[in-house]
Amino acid sequence: MKKFDFHTHTTYSHGDDSPEKMIATAQKEGIATLGISEHLPRLTNFRYSGENGKIRGLSTWGEYLMKMRKLRDDSRNQQTKVLLGCEVDWVGETHVSYYQEQLREGEFDYTIGSVHFIGEIGFDYEADWEKLVEKFGKDNIIGVYEAYFAEYVKMVESGLFDIAGHLDLIKIFRDKNPLPAGVDILKLADKALIALKKAGMVMEINTAGFAKGLGEFYPSEDILRKACEMGIPITFGSDAHSVKRVGDKFEEAMDLAKKVGYTEITVFREGGKRESVKI
Ligand SMILES: [Zn+2]
Ligand SMILES: [Zn+2]
Repeated sequence: MKKFDFHTHTTYSHGDDSPEKMIATAQKEGIATLGISEHLPRLTNFRYSGENGKIRGLSTWGEYLMKMRKLRDDSRNQQTKVLLGCEVDWVGETHVSYYQEQLREGEFDYTIGSVHFIGEIGFDYEADWEKLVEKFGKDNIIGVYEAYFAEYVKMVESGLFDIAGHLDLIKIFRDKNPLPAGVDILKLADKALIALKKAGMVMEINTAGFAKGLGEFYPSEDILRKACEMGIPITFGSDAHSVKRVGDKFEEAMDLAKKVGYTEITVFREGGKRESVKI
């Protein structure tokens, strides 16, 4: 089957390579559609400690949009189509009007909703994760997971996004702070899946979990199987932050999707149209 990748980053936020380089790699690898989904700059005080207070990607956001529109136009008569996407780091309901405004102005082909923050603490960098664990208490990792999925449900229920990004990202430091024995992440993720189904969102298989050493994708096989039983559509995103991971583990992700019962994935076209592709 043709390959697709709807979740990638560039030098316009914290990636290593330019959009042009990412596209050239996708062309070389015969990817049918490459979506570049840069992070919408986060305003206010939602910062990772490593950002030193600077708003990542804000000063070049307009340039990103202009460049991507041109690259998308250029790709229309090429093998590899380029789409303009956006990953929104959901930081709570108080920011909904900001997201709405930005999504309207951006005229994106599709949007990814993701949760990287619980309260004002980003958790996917180790130093920030430690702060979060300290806040909840080392013996309350369940509380951390519950807070994450509660935020995830709000993100989904906002109705603003097309793709549900890395649904169980909260497992990122599970080797360091595991859930207590007998507690199943599938149960904790249940409400998020129900919300997804209701909202008609598409869930991505995000293969960055392997790059982070987790030995599995986001979401886990169990969650993916449950999503399939519930009739939640899926798509694919590598979450590549450099040319090295464009389309990474696409075949493995499709094998896993088939294994749990999927027969097709959803792909996006320019203007946001969705199509099903057999796997
Ligand atoms: Zn993300
Ligand atoms: Zn991402």
